[in-house]
Amino acid sequence: MDPISTVVKYEIVKPQKRHDNELMVVSRPFEFGNPPFDPELFAKDIATRMIQENGLGLAAIQIGVPYRVFAVRTDPIQVCFNPKIVDASGDFLPAEEGCLSFPNMFVKVKRYDHIRLRFQLHNGAFVTRKFEGLAARIVQHEQDHLDGILFYNRASTFHRDQALRKWERTLKKASALNTSVVPRSLTLDEEQLVWQALHDSSPKPENVSETK
Ligand SMILES: [Zn+2]
Repeated sequence: MDPISTVVKYEIVKPQKRHDNELMVVSRPFEFGNPPFDPELFAKDIATRMIQENGLGLAAIQIGVPYRVFAVRTDPIQVCFNPKIVDASGDFLPAEEGCLSFPNMFVKVKRYDHIRLRFQLHNGAFVTRKFEGLAARIVQHEQDHLDGILFYNRASTFHRDQALRKWERTLKKASALNTSVVPRSLTLDEEQLVWQALHDSSPKPENVSETK
């Protein structure tokens, strides 16, 4: 097994305002021909951070990296580069959703029940994978992060305003506390999950020779 770095520096971005915040930017494509950083190391880092935070998904922009990459806590964990939803179908259902960048905010958002996602693995290979139910919801939430769209902006006006007002009240209280937290170490089982994400996860690559 490859050594996995459990000391990851990336802090979770937690905006302090509802408009024009640091998550409302459109992330850039990750160019495998001219990579801005090592995709394999980053895949490990983002999967590690997601597990440390007990998250179901994490977009790169949420750790201050404005490139089109996210991790999803499926089995195995999938780290997706340059993902695109190529098909969305099935029911369009409301459910309570949260986000690591907005602790304690939950708001009802409608998402499709079935999606197909086309993306690249950390080695640049293209794959298409189906996601259903909760996994489909997570992917749609993370895909929105890449376009600077936050989950509360997908909610009804009523639910959004209610959730944002409550969040703003907790922010005021929280700002009195210094809440800097050192990320915990992964357990051996969790390190195994990260290893699998990079080695076993790959659904059968298709069109590996494809360049775009
Ligand atoms: Zn989120």
